Amino acid sequence: MSGLSPWTWIATGLLVSLTSIAIGDRMILFAWIGLAFLAIGVAKLVFVTITTAQKSPLDIPKEKGTVLCTRCYRQTRADYNFCGICGAQLRKTY
Ligand SMILES: [Zn+2]
Repeated sequence: MSGLSPWTWIATGLLVSLTSIAIGDRMILFAWIGLAFLAIGVAKLVFVTITTAQKSPLDIPKEKGTVLCTRCYRQTRADYNFCGICGAQLRKTY
């Protein structure tokens, strides 16, 4: 998932819609644009929550001598300091 974070969309949407409402009737189009941003942000948030839940380390069986990378959620050697797949630094949790 690349690009803007869901909270950026939600914050932008809130800002645009609240500003246009404060200015008045002529800005009603911007209120709808703000709401659209808000909707995109919420949709992204739901999507991220679902995909993150599916990648939960608890759901993936772990082989002995391996750890799950905290970034790419793949199994990599437990004695490595960095993930062999994506290069992320591994946190020792055991
Ligand atoms: Zn990785």
